[in-house]
Amino acid sequence: MAKQDDAFPGKGEIETSVVHDGEKRPLVEGAVTLPIFQSSTFEYAGEENYDDLRYIRLNNTPNHLALGRKIASLEKAEAGMVMSSGMAAISTALMTVLSPGDHLLALAGLYGGTHDLLSNYLSRFGIDHDWVDGRDVSEWERKLRPETKAFYVESITNPLMQVPDLPGVVGFAADNQLLSLIDNTFATPVNFRPLELGFDLVLHSATKYLNGHSDIVGGAVAGSGRMIKNITSNLNLLGGSMDPHTCFLLHRGMKTLLVRVRHQNTSAAKIAEFLDQHSSVKRVYYPGLVGCCGHSTAKSLFGGYGGMLSFELSGGEEDTNRFMERLHLPILAPSLGGVESLVVCPAKTTHAGLSTREREAIGISETLIRFSVGIESTSDLIFDLEQALA
Ligand SMILES: *Cc1c(COP(=O)(O)O)cnc(C)c1O
Repeated sequence: MAKQDDAFPGKGEIETSVVHDGEKRPLVEGAVTLPIFQSSTFEYAGEENYDDLRYIRLNNTPNHLALGRKIASLEKAEAGMVMSSGMAAISTALMTVLSPGDHLLALAGLYGGTHDLLSNYLSRFGIDHDWVDGRDVSEWERKLRPETKAFYVESITNPLMQVPDLPGVVGFAADNQLLSLIDNTFATPVNFRPLELGFDLVLHSATKYLNGHSDIVGGAVAGSGRMIKNITSNLNLLGGSMDPHTCFLLHRGMKTLLVRVRHQNTSAAKIAEFLDQHSSVKRVYYPGLVGCCGHSTAKSLFGGYGGMLSFELSGGEEDTNRFMERLHLPILAPSLGGVESLVVCPAKTTHAGLSTREREAIGISETLIRFSVGIESTSDLIFDLEQALA
């Protein structure tokens, strides 16, 4: 491992890959961690293409390249790239694979930013879409058009933690010559590697688990070398580049991805079970619970069920507010995937842009609570939940 060079393909176990793959060799001045190349421009060395000139916006500093290789290694992809945010990754990828006149099948209840990008923005450029249920193949067939180009899903939906029929999506896309894209933010490559199942492109908000410390915003994509090259060319024009200092923080965060997510998998599973058995809890959404959220799909494909869960209390809005106020450890905040536990009421925050009726149509009640399990002690978290429920 220590002798690997830039081209080392990475054959190790994922625990080893996350630490060693993609690292620049030989070490720069012997530094064990890759230094920050905080230089906007680099000396001209005879490059012939614009995209090859070395400049931070062109996404090719040593910090960008190392992270691209690391995300590719984790997702078992030919290539990868990081961007300035999850939305930069999603918008740049969609604007690369879709052109005016194209149509997209997209999972209903996507992350709010992606939902609005499709509804309010790409529609202005003549890119149309239909929302589909993640498990209803006959609906996919009904909504398929000659101009349908791609199928876009998430590995676990927010906030109801539903796992779509992922093998079905891959099969349907292949049968109909569609590109299959998946936002793998919630599952992480620790638990699920969509390219191994046959997805064409995987996207991440690196803000969440990849970085894991709630201190940066970032995005990532992984897929074939050709696709990542095209996306990077467009990123160079659209401008959503990650700053090298942010690259450094993401790089540092990613090295502990495995230990964090494994702990979060175990802890969230115990918390979901605790809540599921509690008399004051009406319903728990967690893909690890039998009979919930596409559990059998998750069981057959995932190495773990993740650190995200949501639940509803038996009482009404007032009880829910009181419960949230009584929690000591989880911080009341949107976002997820960090080392500290966070709770949020989606109806008041992430999904506040929808009307009550729209929220009810997609199953989000006013009292739903979403819980991003951190790396604190599981028993401390359960103790805290127990006292707040009492
Ligand atoms: C947060 C999030 C995004 C957007 O990522 P940003 O880094 O905030 O731009 C996209 N998809 C999912 C599933 C997310 O949770």
